[in-house]
Amino acid sequence: MTGRLDLPEPDAFTRTYWEAAAEGRLLIRRCRACGRAHHYPREFCPRCWSEDVTWEAASGRATLYTWSVVHRNDLPPFAERTPYVAAVVDLAEGPRMMTEVVGERELSAGADLEVAFREGVPVFRIVPGIGQVPGPGSEVTTPSPRA
Ligand SMILES: [Zn+2]
Repeated sequence: MTGRLDLPEPDAFTRTYWEAAAEGRLLIRRCRACGRAHHYPREFCPRCWSEDVTWEAASGRATLYTWSVVHRNDLPPFAERTPYVAAVVDLAEGPRMMTEVVGERELSAGADLEVAFREGVPVFRIVPGIGQVPGPGSEVTTPSPRA
């Protein structure tokens, strides 16, 4: 136990997810009975309760659904990170995910996002493009391209 509340404590089921994240890959779960994807990972499908659910690599693309700028959080290590952006994003595959948006202060609903990883934890940032330049001091890494 590190005393940090932002790092995962994988168990036998979620280890696959966190090991992939440590390698820069975001995994989701997809049900082979109804075809729906879900997130966070569960051992059964939250739509149809089937246990025929498998891991799948997500594209890492998402759109911003909603967010809140957090100015006060006394739990370590969040206090040193304020203000930060707690966000809910819609993954391209469908599931909605709670996460953090980094490196950007000007946000708008529906903004295109891509996954990045900070210490093996998936966060999102605005897709670079139209007038967007990653800010200085960004401490995230881009996942390596998949073959
Ligand atoms: Zn299902």
